[in-house]
Amino acid sequence: MTVDSRAALSRVQPGRHHIGGQWTSPASGRLLDVEDPATGALIGQIAAGSAADVDLAVAAAGDAMQVARKRKWTPPQRQDALLALARAIEANGEELAVLETLDAGKPITNARRIDIPASAAILRYFAGWATKLTGETMELSHPGNANGFTLREPVGVVGQIIPWNYPLMGAAFKIGPAIAAGCAVVLKPAEQSSLSALRLAALAVDCGVPAGFLNVVTGSGVEAGAALVAHRDVAKISFTGSTATGIEIAADCARAMKRVTVELGGKSAVIVMPDADLDAAAQGIAMSIFLNTGQTCSAASRLLVHASIADALVERIAQIGAAMAIGPTMAPETQLGPAISAIQRDRILGYVEGALAQGARALRAGRPLPERGYYVEPTVLTGVHPGMAAVDEEIFGPVLCAMPFETADLDEIAALANDTRYGLAAYVWTGSLATAHGLVARLRAGTVRINACGGADLSMPTGGVRQSGFGRENGRAGVEAYTELKAVKMVY
Ligand code: NAD
Repeated sequence: MTVDSRAALSRVQPGRHHIGGQWTSPASGRLLDVEDPATGALIGQIAAGSAADVDLAVAAAGDAMQVARKRKWTPPQRQDALLALARAIEANGEELAVLETLDAGKPITNARRIDIPASAAILRYFAGWATKLTGETMELSHPGNANGFTLREPVGVVGQIIPWNYPLMGAAFKIGPAIAAGCAVVLKPAEQSSLSALRLAALAVDCGVPAGFLNVVTGSGVEAGAALVAHRDVAKISFTGSTATGIEIAADCARAMKRVTVELGGKSAVIVMPDADLDAAAQGIAMSIFLNTGQTCSAASRLLVHASIADALVERIAQIGAAMAIGPTMAPETQLGPAISAIQRDRILGYVEGALAQGARALRAGRPLPERGYYVEPTVLTGVHPGMAAVDEEIFGPVLCAMPFETADLDEIAALANDTRYGLAAYVWTGSLATAHGLVARLRAGTVRINACGGADLSMPTGGVRQSGFGRENGRAGVEAYTELKAVKMVY
């Protein structure tokens, strides 16, 4: 371990939550091991949170909201605190990048260029919303002298649960809108990648975020996560993770009449028409499905390509994947790191092997991978079809399923894209405005991009339909999701 690594890890107190502005030991005394996915080596331990720790954190969050109400933690102050936290992320960027690399297997260059600046940008974006939230006045329907208006109030203490694929960005996406709206947060990061969220909570204390407004409780989903969902003083759950877990959480919240947003898995189609810019499409699709080792919810994972260009496009995408540098995550030239865990790597390989056993062909370089760590090669599967697990299910790895089509009929093409239980994103590459608009209207997905496969844009609502979840994050909708509307009528 390098000196940099030791220094970064030393900023997070091992085996502690961050509750009420302080490092806090778990009530049970139990710890969970943390490993570096690039080597499998043990790099530390986190607290195994239990219901008692969640109780403490929810109480701290409730107290913080009370204090904020009395002393009026004003919207400009919330904005300033989020801006200060964004600056703190940048000022501590190298240390956070190293932490993210060790904990989540991010190539250090990607952590430096993507995760750290994006996390700061997310908080800056939401900082602006703190001062822009308003109610409305209404002209009332009933006759008489009366005024009507709405107040937009914070929904209350919110529980937020995130996965391991973009740990710091995921934390920023959650806490930014909640704090902007005036809600205190209990964040439960994924047990595989909790360190950057803990460091974020510690940084927040020096940035003017009142103690208790941002609490991080670590631990397993079934224990710490479930306790947060069940807690009666949590007004809303915002969950990002797998569809299976999201369904359970949404059902639990429904029974408790708790507000809930679920951002779940995807199996997003990318349609490539014969009039598309093939180089741009190949590059965009390869980055979408291969970067972050395919562990991106909105990855373009089902390629539907017109048969006339299928071979050429598939070949180009496979070549881009084969040329991407796989290696030690601390090496600056590395573009692709490992999957998060041995379990996840084996899951990915299981889908590939299952498809091969059913007659699929794998286009991949077949190069030697690092001996330690959970590495997987970028792979394009051809000869696949709906009905195969690799096509129907979310692999969450660098595996693209390529399927050619012959038709020019937009209804038929859209039907192929919509042939999934998910609906997170859909992508179309075409040179024709008419084709683009025609497909936008027919595709069932929360996000549609034309001639692009990039990630979420902060200004636009992000979320899914069908089994990709419900509710929206980002944009105005993402912040308003943390507010409750109170309708007021005043007779005079
Ligand atoms: P997961 O559902 O296993 O875990 C996600 C989080 O939920 C973790 O913090 C986990 O500890 C917690 N959790 C697990 N069981 C729980 C329970 N019973 N009660 C409460 N919390 C519980 O998901 P994962 O495998 O860690 O993450 C990958 C998944 O996340 C993929 O399906 C991916 O598509 C999805 N994802 C979606 C988005 C989006 O915006 N739609 C973004 C990123 C990832």
